Amino acid sequence: MFDTLQDRLAATFKNLRGKGRITEADIDETAREIRRALLEADVNLAVVKEFVAAVKERARSTELHAALNPAQQIVKIVNDELVSILGGETRTVRFAKRPPTVIMLAGLQGAGKTTLAGKLALWLKGQGHSPLLVAADLQRPNAVNQLQIVGQRAGVHVFAPEPGNGVGNPIEVAKNSIAEAERRLYDVVIVDTAGRLGIDAELMQQAADIRDAVRPDEVLFVVDAMIGQDAVNTANAFAEGVGFDGVVLTKLDGDARGGAALSIARVTGKPIMFASSGEGQKDFDVFHPDRMASRILG
Ligand code: GDP
Repeated sequence: MFDTLQDRLAATFKNLRGKGRITEADIDETAREIRRALLEADVNLAVVKEFVAAVKERARSTELHAALNPAQQIVKIVNDELVSILGGETRTVRFAKRPPTVIMLAGLQGAGKTTLAGKLALWLKGQGHSPLLVAADLQRPNAVNQLQIVGQRAGVHVFAPEPGNGVGNPIEVAKNSIAEAERRLYDVVIVDTAGRLGIDAELMQQAADIRDAVRPDEVLFVVDAMIGQDAVNTANAFAEGVGFDGVVLTKLDGDARGGAALSIARVTGKPIMFASSGEGQKDFDVFHPDRMASRILG
């Protein structure tokens, strides 16, 4: 991911490097190049426009002539603006004052929610928490089983629909899981919910009902970065149907052009909290906007 964008931006900056003095025309040309590079990377048009305008504005108001190295100044401006559209500050889970902290995962089928549930549980364990995984995806026949395997691998207990837990009713399962966590002193509850291949009113309602039943501290919208611009449309649909507090980007190891990653925080106004970059349990990290920007700028 980001390979083409990286190359394009590097070439743009290289053109500037030779110049002792940077003119208005140079700034315009650089802005045009950046615009082209971002659009090619499949970044949302509104985000591109805002980004380019901000870079131009700051480049114009900076004393580039006085700078020792004007090209470096421009790189810094682009870096700052990248950090800004990626959400600025690093932000992860906010824990409830009174446990358990309830985290609900929402997203389309195949986005990587179940895989993510295991990674998140492992990460939480590493931070000294005691998470409980909850199988509230009863739509796919194999989903409960899959979460159980994920839980086993992470060494985390899975609350599954069994007699007494709310068989066949994901809302009951989710509700009962909170009581179970309180009883057995799990301090974080991760609720995996069902997703369809496309946005679906019935399933969106189910997710909203689960949300109302468990009153999550954090709803995380899990989205496959490979789906490009569709990630933004899907995010908007989930924002309206369920609402969410943060985004988890998955499949950052894929060969998508990176547009989704670069657009979603700004378009949704919600922070990207975590990133998943592979099928393995270790392919997971807290998302740091500044590190991502540095990576893009090489
Ligand atoms: P769910 O339907 O949202 O629960 O999605 P799953 O967790 O079942 O994931 C769907 C597929 O994507 C599975 O084959 C996962 O192994 C795979 N997957 C999940 N996260 C990643 C990731 O970060 N990178 C890659 N390459 N594959 C992933």
